[in-house]
Amino acid sequence: MLFFLLFSPSAIFSQNYQKLHKSALLIDTHNDFPSSAIAKKVAFDQNLLGKTHSDLKRMKEGGVDIQVFSIFCGPEQAKPYAFANQEIDSVYKWARRNPDRMMIVYNSQDLSKAVRKKKFGAMLGVEGGHMIEDKLENLEALYVRGVRYMTLTWNNSTSWATSALDETRHKDSMPHMGLNDFGKDVVRKMNALGMIVDLSHTGEKTFWDAINTTTKPVIASHSCVYTLCPHRRNLKDDQIKAIAKNGGVIHLNFYAGFIDSTYEKKALAFKSIHKAEIDSLIKLKYQPDYAGMIILEKYPTELGSMLPPLSMLIDHLDYIVKLVGVDHVGLGSDFDGIEAPPKGLKGVEDFPEITRELISRGYSKKDIKKILGGNFIRVLKANEIH
Ligand SMILES: [Zn+2]
Repeated sequence: MLFFLLFSPSAIFSQNYQKLHKSALLIDTHNDFPSSAIAKKVAFDQNLLGKTHSDLKRMKEGGVDIQVFSIFCGPEQAKPYAFANQEIDSVYKWARRNPDRMMIVYNSQDLSKAVRKKKFGAMLGVEGGHMIEDKLENLEALYVRGVRYMTLTWNNSTSWATSALDETRHKDSMPHMGLNDFGKDVVRKMNALGMIVDLSHTGEKTFWDAINTTTKPVIASHSCVYTLCPHRRNLKDDQIKAIAKNGGVIHLNFYAGFIDSTYEKKALAFKSIHKAEIDSLIKLKYQPDYAGMIILEKYPTELGSMLPPLSMLIDHLDYIVKLVGVDHVGLGSDFDGIEAPPKGLKGVEDFPEITRELISRGYSKKDIKKILGGNFIRVLKANEIH
């Protein structure tokens, strides 16, 4: 009986997925902890269970080897470039305080070193072209500090690139659409520096201008599939095919609203019920989206009932694999930038659940390793300047 319990098929399955998860290199390409840490006044090396999706200890538990931290601020920041540097300072500080557990990763060699030394590797990516304040020198300086990708826009457009939000919602009032000449220079400069062009958040016009300008593989650091969930932040089939043709990778975002087309309606209904509470935070100068996020997090039972299952996220992965193959998909959780990941993915500690789901859907060990990190390493290396 004991033998049966120890070696029942489900026990073997459970051991297998954890073993495979631990042995595979896991790279998540998008986590907003640095900006969230400033807003919540917390640090990465604290125990933040129940307060954030991530902390250093839980990264280890979740088997995350390398995290690309998003360096982000909204358009309301008067000095976005200075703000970006302040966030980078925080990541450096966390690494300096924990030299045995964490290191900054600047290139693929550092990445291997971090894995060899069993240290958590922190990489940097800028979210939003507005953070360079229209100056190529700032782009260069951010590269020197370790930034290895930049999303050309966030939800706000820049003077040189239009965002998905503006191209869909404000197209009649935009002075131009897509990349202008300076925008193309930004892409060329990124290629020359060895900084990956990230097309998450860009409008379709910017997407096509950028993919036709870049000479290196691109990524979408945190986006899902439009056909499965028609949201402006998701990628249409022709865009997915173009990224595959370019040799790039689409890293899936865990936000319920990008995975499940019914979520945003439910979230809106929730927000109208709790409008007074949200408004009171807005009066205290909280951004409306952030105020909504705080109130959603205050009601975990209601939030839980609205969330899609983890399997729905993996449906997006399956879709991309069927459309263009397993070499063009990865993970870009957006943890600590979203209030609603799917059920069963409470935070970075739950990453092994993804491996479990991939095994149960019949993905091979080799393919799982590509999805969890191998594909991103290929793009990183292809962008590096030697
Ligand atoms: Zn984002």
